[in-house]
Amino acid sequence: MELHAVADLPEIRPGDDIADLVADRTALEPGDVLTVASTIVSKAEGRTADLEDYPVSGRAKELAERIGAVAGEEKDPRFAQAVLEESTELLIERPFMLTETRFGHICVNAGIDRSNVPDHDLLLLPRRPTRSAERIRAGLAARGHEDVAVIVTDTCGRPFRHGQRGVALGWAGMSASRDWRGEPDRDGRELGVTVQSVVDELASAANLVTGEGADGTPAVVVSDWSFGDLEGSDELFRDVEDDLVRQALREWEFEQ
Ligand code: GDP
Ligand code: MN
Ligand code: MN
Repeated sequence: MELHAVADLPEIRPGDDIADLVADRTALEPGDVLTVASTIVSKAEGRTADLEDYPVSGRAKELAERIGAVAGEEKDPRFAQAVLEESTELLIERPFMLTETRFGHICVNAGIDRSNVPDHDLLLLPRRPTRSAERIRAGLAARGHEDVAVIVTDTCGRPFRHGQRGVALGWAGMSASRDWRGEPDRDGRELGVTVQSVVDELASAANLVTGEGADGTPAVVVSDWSFGDLEGSDELFRDVEDDLVRQALREWEFEQ
């Protein structure tokens, strides 16, 4: 397996064609995977916003006050309002807002970034990252790069562990996971539960190449890569009904 950064991408602006910009700068073979940081997908899709765009509701005011009280500093209720508008559920209210975004991903502050956004206060996540991935994949195919899978990624914290890593938000041209259930382990015992989230593992690997600082790069090509028959599913986000952690959080919030 090889991972290489797509070099020399410009500062991405609304309306930019990411497939075009990438295809001009790198070789792509059938079977390759292109990972793209959601940051530039959002910039290309014009998903920037300003705090003044968000008239504050009573709920946002209350949330900002509560979080501010825990943090010991004032929090901008307009930011809380932006987070609420990007979310379908608030799983934790304080000391930070853990939200489910409209496309099903669970993360802090609806994944809204407040850094590296030229001319605006906020960068929202793409509205439908899987559709973004499909569009980029189709754009590559239209330029003669057939059969390149695309993963839109973000850098996220995780529960239980320190540190952040890359995750997949949306993908096209491949399954999300490889289902190992039913296959034998080294002792011949049948694997019972292992469904490997391949898109997340590729997103994490790519995030190592992407970097986080000013000199990083938002697009990475994974090549010489094969993973057998990727028989799996396209499910990545659990439903509440089979998510014990979310159920526990709901009860805990209720008791607060
Ligand atoms: P996220 O992980 O999706 O939130 O994306 P990051 O904000 O961490 O950005 C990933 C990398 O791409 C970082 O190294 C940034 O410096 C870089 N980056 C962000 N925006 C742009 C851009 O518009 N153009 C280029 N060339 N690089 C960018
Ligand atoms: Mn981000
Ligand atoms: Mn990042």
